[in-house]
Amino acid sequence: MFEFLSKLWDTAPFPARWHCGEWSAGHGWLHICSDVAIFLAYMAIPVVLAVLITRRKDLPFPRILWLFVAFIALCGMTHIIEAVIFWRPIYRVAGLVKFCTAVVSWTTVFALVPTVKRVMTFRSPEALEREVEARTRELAREKATLEAILDSLDAGVVVASPEGRVVLMNRRAEEILGETIADEALHDWPRLLNVVPTRGITMTTAEASATQNTSEEPSIPLLDALERGRSVREQELHMQNRDSGKPMTLNFSARTIRASTGNSEGAVACFTDITSRVNAERELARSNRDLQQFAYASSHDLVEPLRQVASYSGLLAETYGEKFDDKGARYLNYVKEGSERMQSLVHGLLAYSRVGTRGFNPEWVDVESLVNDILTDYDSALKSADGEVQIEGKMPRLFVDPTQLRQVMQNLIANGLKFRSQEAPRLTLRVEQDGAYFRFSLQDNGIGIAPQHHERIFRVFQRLHTRNEFEGTGIGLALCQRIVTGWGGEIWLKSEPGQGSTFFFTVPRGRPSEVAAN
Ligand code: ADP
Repeated sequence: MFEFLSKLWDTAPFPARWHCGEWSAGHGWLHICSDVAIFLAYMAIPVVLAVLITRRKDLPFPRILWLFVAFIALCGMTHIIEAVIFWRPIYRVAGLVKFCTAVVSWTTVFALVPTVKRVMTFRSPEALEREVEARTRELAREKATLEAILDSLDAGVVVASPEGRVVLMNRRAEEILGETIADEALHDWPRLLNVVPTRGITMTTAEASATQNTSEEPSIPLLDALERGRSVREQELHMQNRDSGKPMTLNFSARTIRASTGNSEGAVACFTDITSRVNAERELARSNRDLQQFAYASSHDLVEPLRQVASYSGLLAETYGEKFDDKGARYLNYVKEGSERMQSLVHGLLAYSRVGTRGFNPEWVDVESLVNDILTDYDSALKSADGEVQIEGKMPRLFVDPTQLRQVMQNLIANGLKFRSQEAPRLTLRVEQDGAYFRFSLQDNGIGIAPQHHERIFRVFQRLHTRNEFEGTGIGLALCQRIVTGWGGEIWLKSEPGQGSTFFFTVPRGRPSEVAAN
């Protein structure tokens, strides 16, 4: 081997090909010219391939292409050597180059087989084109469906690209905002539209324009979602029509659109026009306030004359009672009873209207001692009726106005004792945790209430019985409901006639702000 390599260029033992056999000049040059032409072509092909491979980095199977480059170049080398041998018999070099060519060509063959298998799985350009067409049709169908859905929505939808351009806007969005901002820069939308964000729907045009001058701009939910990645839910945005000054309230939700990689692909905002609802609520709140003021003022002003009628009819009966005949005494008694009853109605109404007009003073109240306190007042009533009120489990402490809690507990306990059946009254007070609330229940074994009356009995003056059957004003449960809903809780009942009743009510577990945070 070593000897072969050391004599690689040694031509001594061989004659040049011109001297080997009888060559005519034409025959010899035919070989020489053809070998040189083949060599040149075989060298040109790898050069072209190499340029292609280095320029197009995305070509599949680059390694096999490099093998082709080497294999073709080596084939070219064998041909040029064949031509050289006519003058210089470098048969050893020729053998070595042929050997290298053989190794590279077989390597190419072995590499080619698995590559061909993979290439066989490739789809033809026609098949790919058909597939692209089918997908394009599918996408167009999906887009049309999406657009139809968007346009049939009663909510406005605006989609912004990551660069802050409006790329999609449905019909309702155009209707609500007054014009299209599709394709516009989002930052500019208050300028583009005929609306300006304001701080509140209650503002007049003058107030609103004053607000415009404040440095702090109302935040735009879609921009928040786009720039800060902040999802916005149910945010009210107040706006005003630039020309008419007409206020408008929109309820916005917005969120960032995220790709599977987590990168932002823009943001989408949905909004509904809630102007009429907000106006109706404001109107309702205002008329409720007026009504409350009226109820308070009138019941408050009634107290004094009523007290006068009640006390003077009492005095009349006491002082001149004997002078009345039977009829007169009966009439006087009607006046006395009527005025007393009127007094309790007015006191009830006053208590009811005070829930809304007076501020309340919450403090931590121990429910158990408050209930025990109430029961002491009912001691004799309980004894005479052979009744029993049980507190089951440990009662919590509540952050409420103690007077209000007392009113609720007292009304419910009094009703449980009052609307008793034939059996001796048995009342049980329980409490359970219900999320951020405590759920209290007071169960009795009284006459029960038919389900169709379950809502009605919470309204003022709604009673299911006459005064002869059960005394009362019909204000107790209305008062309870007002107090409980004022705390942010609810009150309801479960009951069937003859099967007793259970009244439930919920109270926030902590201070109201802590409940909101829960
Ligand atoms: P009042 O007790 O002064 O009649 P309420 O507002 O407290 O007024 O109650 C309204 C009506 O609901 C009562 O008249 C009664 O018909 C019914 N009710 C309330 N509590 C009970 C109860 N525990 N069992 C049966 N009926 C009840």
